Amino acid sequence: MNTQVLPINAESLALAEKLIKDGGIVAFPTETVYGLAANAYDTDAVKSIFTVKGRPNDNPLIVHVHSAYDIAGLVTDIPSYAKALAKAFLPGPLTMVYRSKQTVSAAVSCGGDTLAIRVPSHSGAQQFLKQVNLPIAAPSANVSKHVSPVTAKHVYDDLKGKIPLILDGGKCSGGIESTVLDCTGNVPCVLRSGLITREMVAAVVGECDEYVLKDGGKVRSPGMKYKHYSPACPTRLFDFNDRYSAYALYKEKNAEGVNVWILCDDTVAVESDCERILKLGESENEIAANLYDKLREGERVADLIIAIAPQKQDGVMTGVMNRLKKACG
Ligand code: AMP
Ligand code: MG
Repeated sequence: MNTQVLPINAESLALAEKLIKDGGIVAFPTETVYGLAANAYDTDAVKSIFTVKGRPNDNPLIVHVHSAYDIAGLVTDIPSYAKALAKAFLPGPLTMVYRSKQTVSAAVSCGGDTLAIRVPSHSGAQQFLKQVNLPIAAPSANVSKHVSPVTAKHVYDDLKGKIPLILDGGKCSGGIESTVLDCTGNVPCVLRSGLITREMVAAVVGECDEYVLKDGGKVRSPGMKYKHYSPACPTRLFDFNDRYSAYALYKEKNAEGVNVWILCDDTVAVESDCERILKLGESENEIAANLYDKLREGERVADLIIAIAPQKQDGVMTGVMNRLKKACG
């Protein structure tokens, strides 16, 4: 199959609509990462997402809709705190999990009784979703367990020959996947951290829990149990407080002739005297936006990536740390 990469315009949107309505799958940009889209009503199309990605079939997909779409046909029992959160943060990088009305294909939720809904803010995503005017099931547009894609080129590198079309909307500004928030209980609960932080949710609705998977406990966000986001080369992760050990390991490996690179934020980069550095940026949002791009660059150029965790660990850095830990095993 030939994979076209096209800028977003009337022609490419019409092609995307035709492909989706014919049961095909299409990659599209969002403000977090690129998604791999299928008509959520079409079981065969949804199943082909799992096949193309090599995704475990117990890891459900998020349904994406445009801002004017009425989700009342998809889910039920929407609590008042969810309405307040939607008003505060949507469209944006927040996915909310509700009781499903079971109107979309059961393959989207892997047979479960909840459905995750997201309204992306990326203008290209909105144009695509408005054009099809369907609920669109989509996970990230990468081969399962690889680093999520934040450019059309990343999608192409993973899925060329396997999908017909990638809508190119430039580099994603957010850089890490959406916050997944369970809205089926009395209090919202973060299942996966992201750019909309637990603190931001609590500031709007008073309270917000955070789900922690305990040994033997019930898995509420299936994606959390898988190793994810891994670059194709060996990686090591050091705490910020242990960064001098990271510099020492860099020097030791470098002396052995290993092509080793440090991955860290700009503050650490300035302090270290290592030569090869994948710099993530200075602010929290820059660090999140560059994380996957730099991990993908790292796997291209390095034999070994030594990552140094940011000093700050709360807020947006909760999500960054979660991905770094998974990337580095
Ligand atoms: P991805 O966009 O590739 O990160 O995949 C979607 C993520 O959303 C995965 O981590 C899923 O486990 C999570 N997810 C999707 N639907 C649900 C749901 N109904 N309940 C809990 N988590 C979900
Ligand atoms: Mg993913």
